[in-house]
Amino acid sequence: MSTETPSRPLTLHRCRDCGNVQHGWQDRYCVRCWSRELAEVAARGTASLLSWATYHSDYRIPGISAPYSIGLIRLDEGPQLPCLLAGDTSVASFQQRITVEAGPAGPGNLQPEVTGPLRAIVVRPDG
Ligand SMILES: [Zn+2]
Repeated sequence: MSTETPSRPLTLHRCRDCGNVQHGWQDRYCVRCWSRELAEVAARGTASLLSWATYHSDYRIPGISAPYSIGLIRLDEGPQLPCLLAGDTSVASFQQRITVEAGPAGPGNLQPEVTGPLRAIVVRPDG
C-alpha cells in the first residue's frame, strides 16, 4: 500500500441525520433519507480497486488521450465511483489498495502518467 499523500483531497458529504456518506452530483440532499442536512468532509484518500479497463482509442475526452485507464473504486468511507487511474495498471489487482485524489477543477490536463504507484484521480466538472 502506498503511503503517498494525495496531492489534492477529495471532498465527500456526510448526512447529519443518518450518517450516510456520499460523493457526486447529489450534494444537495442525502440519497438514503432525503435530508438536506449534509456536512462536507474530507475523504481519507484511500480506496480499493474493484474493476478497471484500459482504452487504446481516443474518445474526445478533454485533457485525456489514449492510452488511459478507467477504474471503479470503493472509497474507505463507502461510496463507489468511477475515476481515472494513474500508474501501471498492468499489475493492478482486484481490491488492490490505492490512493485517491481529486482531479483539477474544470477542463484541464488530466493525462495520467503510466509509471509509478497506482492511484485514482476523481474527475468532476467543478473539481
Ligand atoms: Zn441521510
